[in-house]
Amino acid sequence: MEEAIAVRPTCAHVDLGALEANFRAIHRYLDERASATRVAPPSVIAVVKANAYGHGARRVALALQDAGARVLACADIEEGVALREAGVEVPILVFGALSVSDLDGLFSHALTPTLSTPAAAKAVEAAAVRHRRRVKCQLKIDTGMHRLGFRHDNLARTIPSILSSPHLAIEAVYTHFATADDVDDAFLDVQRARFEAALVDLQALGLSAAARHAANSAALLRDERTWYEFVRPGLLLYGIAPPGLDDRLALQPVMTLRSRVVAVKGIRTGDGVGYGLRFVASSPREIGVVPAGYADGLDTRLANRSAVLVKGRRAPVVGSVCMDMLMVDVTGLGVSPGDEVVIIGTQGAEAIDVRDMASAVGTIPYELLCRVGARIERVYDQETPTAGTDR
Ligand SMILES: *Cc1c(COP(=O)(O)O)cnc(C)c1O
Repeated sequence: MEEAIAVRPTCAHVDLGALEANFRAIHRYLDERASATRVAPPSVIAVVKANAYGHGARRVALALQDAGARVLACADIEEGVALREAGVEVPILVFGALSVSDLDGLFSHALTPTLSTPAAAKAVEAAAVRHRRRVKCQLKIDTGMHRLGFRHDNLARTIPSILSSPHLAIEAVYTHFATADDVDDAFLDVQRARFEAALVDLQALGLSAAARHAANSAALLRDERTWYEFVRPGLLLYGIAPPGLDDRLALQPVMTLRSRVVAVKGIRTGDGVGYGLRFVASSPREIGVVPAGYADGLDTRLANRSAVLVKGRRAPVVGSVCMDMLMVDVTGLGVSPGDEVVIIGTQGAEAIDVRDMASAVGTIPYELLCRVGARIERVYDQETPTAGTDR
């Protein structure tokens, strides 16, 4: 038998049961809303880019596939190849621009490219000729975010050469919203109207029967008119609803970031803690040392600003976050070395929500999840999925 490999005290527990429950909750939401308005519910493109938002793309992708996901999406060809090598068999959509990539992976690993620039379309056509294959592609329309995609109001100039490329088969057309998570911002409607107009133009240019999609997590919850044939949730799968939209469906956070106290010491009034002595005790305190720092992806701005959970209570982060450690105030909690620390997640009745942590340091939950470092091992808890629909 193989010897067990030691797991560092700081590790990310990934609850695949919660992932699956979230996947089902999204479907339930779509089904219920769709049946209320008597339209067909959209299919889900499950977004697993960026190592599945830090949760570990391989295990997450396989769990989603097992849960019934029919399409996955990733950022680039390299991520898509890794998903195929992990055993993903469903279609994989690659979101990113492709013009400077090695395109052979599209063919060797059956990935679906996004055509978002004329150069990418030419390069994919040329690669398809080389591989003697007709390749299914998706077309990205820029409706106002000005990142990737063909300008919505210029399609008559850009699209005909794609439609006449014999090796490109456009199976879907999509766009991406710039302001979906700002619930009061009306630009989503502007983009949606531009997308609809672009679809009419595309039809006039001869592109018919292509599927359509636009909605990320926030748009999906905000406005059913963004649904079309597919929706593309990422964040929701990982159990986090965009702030302001979190009353629409019940989700379970998938990741718990845990560690253990490795040392406890008493300090006196006036003693400083850590680099720069950025915390100075105004009374005698007990300080717990936690072996997790910015090399593990923790944000240095957590210094003196956030808290961790120990013994079911909040212990404030004191002083700066070091490369491999951070210090927390555990005064009066009766903490000893070995006690569990929760950096993100729940312990007893207390919770550190990644959204609160993000707003405390002035960023978004996406960033904090994606930054959970490569040094941190992902430990997968497969819990019994909650009973749900048949998907
Ligand atoms: C990342 C991404 C998504 C998913 O976004 P969430 O806000 O996590 O739901 C959807 N579509 C595109 C094009 C993306 O890049």
